[in-house]
Amino acid sequence: MKKLEDYVRSIPDFPEEGVIFRDVTSILEEAEGLQLAINAMQELVKDVDFDVVIGPESRGFIFGVPIAYNLKKAFVPVRKKGKLPRETVEMEYDLEYGSATLEMHADAIKPGQKVVIIDDLIATGGTTEAIVKLIEALGGEVVKITFLMELAGLNGRDKLKGYDVETVICYE
Ligand code: 5GP
Repeated sequence: MKKLEDYVRSIPDFPEEGVIFRDVTSILEEAEGLQLAINAMQELVKDVDFDVVIGPESRGFIFGVPIAYNLKKAFVPVRKKGKLPRETVEMEYDLEYGSATLEMHADAIKPGQKVVIIDDLIATGGTTEAIVKLIEALGGEVVKITFLMELAGLNGRDKLKGYDVETVICYE
């Protein structure tokens, strides 16, 4: 039987030379791969006391929504600048390749709500650090952060010290 790791395709030199891109679409394209991925991520949060799943655009939606649905929690998206229609809060951050601005609706998190962040992959940790700042600016409490994959060599966890971070697959 194939393991979850077997469904990840590693693409050399994407999106630029020297980068090995860990492709999640190859997991999703197989019914069993999708089951294994959602189940493994859900296992990391199923016993956590929380109210809301936060999923960053766009791969955070893929994993965040089914887990929120299964555990009967709310889902709040984090989006790239200019996509959300109501009043927003925003945070600029550095990417592995460039920089960007993320937004959340200003009233999406109620003060005191317990939040779990779910995304596909942590590289430098910059994206997640910005999301944590957004959630805390809205009065939310980040109780857990989970990723399907971790590129440990980029030390993203250093930006998330003090938070409960767990990943399913770790690449050195
Ligand atoms: P970070 O801010 O941690 O450096 O970058 C994380 C974000 O970049 C994630 O949202 C992830 O979607 C994307 N990313 C960076 N490298 C990869 C990769 O090798 N594979 C995938 N699937 N996403 C990546």
